[in-house]
Amino acid sequence: MILTDSHAHLYLEQFDADRQEVIRNAIKQDVRYMILPNIDRDSIKPMMQLVKDFPENCFPMMGLHPTSVKEDYTVHLDSAREWLKKEKFYAIGEMGIDLYWDKTFFAEQQEAFRQQINLALEFNLPLVMHSRNSFDEIFRLLDEIYKPELKGVFHCFTGNLEQAEHITGMGFLLGIGGVLTYKNSGLAEVVEKIPLEHLLLETDAPFLAPVPYRGKRNESAFVVEVAKKLAEIKGLTLEVVAEMTTGNAMRLFKIPNSRFQIPYFKN
Ligand SMILES: [Zn+2]
Repeated sequence: MILTDSHAHLYLEQFDADRQEVIRNAIKQDVRYMILPNIDRDSIKPMMQLVKDFPENCFPMMGLHPTSVKEDYTVHLDSAREWLKKEKFYAIGEMGIDLYWDKTFFAEQQEAFRQQINLALEFNLPLVMHSRNSFDEIFRLLDEIYKPELKGVFHCFTGNLEQAEHITGMGFLLGIGGVLTYKNSGLAEVVEKIPLEHLLLETDAPFLAPVPYRGKRNESAFVVEVAKKLAEIKGLTLEVVAEMTTGNAMRLFKIPNSRFQIPYFKN
């Protein structure tokens, strides 16, 4: 079985004391791939160090997180562009719109969003999108600049069925994390109706740990709890869920693995 954690901030300080151990443990628990979303200019260095330490397992993205978009956002985007020119990245992210924490920089967030869509098109990379209290705004922005070659994932999806179908209708995937295991989240009922080919598994470590670790620090090994819950909802085995969702991740991020070169993927 091969599992993929499609969204983990393993370079953050929450892992400073035991980072290597956390990653080795994840690999031991069959989580072979961990995709690392960038946050801003300051997180690049620790993220790239981790990629250097685990080149077979950790794959970086490049982008600017919406909660890091302030007056100086262009500085961060310029630096992202420089990095994209000189190193290999697997997605633009994480980017998006967050209207939960702070609406002060909404105009800047929209501009950073547009510019990162352009980076995705220029470098032919998928988008890893953060959406918090902002589906309508993101759908409007995407409608404005949508191109069929744009691919990506709405990470940590917690919306309703209508929003889920809007996203899959555009050819984007849904990133499913620990919230799936929370009682009364309503996410299980939505995910039940969405075919597995549209789903990725993720942790968003160190945040949003799944049951039975809820409230604790999240780590990539715990993605198996999300996979088990998804298997239960779909009436499938854990192995099938692992195989399918890893295949989805390999194709979206174009990570070479001959086992997952399934013909229905066009790109
Ligand atoms: Zn994240």
